[in-house]
Amino acid sequence: MHFKRFLDIKPEISNLFIIFINNKVVYDLNDKTFLLNSSFLNFTNFEFKKIGIAQDNNMNIYAADLSNESFSLSNQGYQSLVEYDLRYLMTILSEKDLGLVGRANQLLHYLNSSKHCGYCGSVMEFDSTEEAMFCKCNNLMIYPKISPCVLALIKKDNQILLARNALFPEGLYSALAGFIEVSETAEETVIREVFEEVSLKVNNINYFASQAWPFPSQLMLAYTCDYESGDIKVDGSEIIDAKWFDIDNLPNIPPNSTLSGRLINSCISDR
Ligand SMILES: [Zn+2]
Repeated sequence: MHFKRFLDIKPEISNLFIIFINNKVVYDLNDKTFLLNSSFLNFTNFEFKKIGIAQDNNMNIYAADLSNESFSLSNQGYQSLVEYDLRYLMTILSEKDLGLVGRANQLLHYLNSSKHCGYCGSVMEFDSTEEAMFCKCNNLMIYPKISPCVLALIKKDNQILLARNALFPEGLYSALAGFIEVSETAEETVIREVFEEVSLKVNNINYFASQAWPFPSQLMLAYTCDYESGDIKVDGSEIIDAKWFDIDNLPNIPPNSTLSGRLINSCISDR
């Protein structure tokens, strides 16, 4: 499979579509797939929002937003179409499939958020060589934007610090997280975010792994670090609780399909 970005479409040949309706992904329960073949789909036309995201075995793969179209799940060549939340799909898809459906979501977001030039306000055109949105005003190319974030897991002897974000489901604790600020290194973000969110100083910052996070376009970079000094004091707005947990007695943590889940579990298996 080759990742590409393109807008042209040949309706006369079979294409694969990843369809979004009101931010949910259309999924076929029988075939257990979100990749739907246009030969079995009943579109009235191809005028809806779409962007080519990859090519595989001479098939083009498109992300399509059919939120405002008269597209009915019950009127298709697929017999068991349902709408799934992307966050739910994270729990049932392979990493490769998740990358593809996440790419579809991110590139639809790119299409929707890059309609007009930020300098002159003109409608942007698509440059098929650069595979990017383009404006003539100062030869400006707008590529899909990715926002880097860090995850920070603080270690202290046989304990790790886990926190509850105000938006988390009841009872769930995870590593600290924050966006990288302009001009900052990821390691500096770890130090700043930890201090802002729980008032602790940390050192010995080590990279663990990364994960694309398509809600809508983050790249998560996970780090471990060691406690240096300070007493836990939560900021009370973003973080509503933070505690030291013994590694063999952890609360509910995110699943292993998420980088935060893998980061936390790596500390358990290290012991
Ligand atoms: Zn412009």
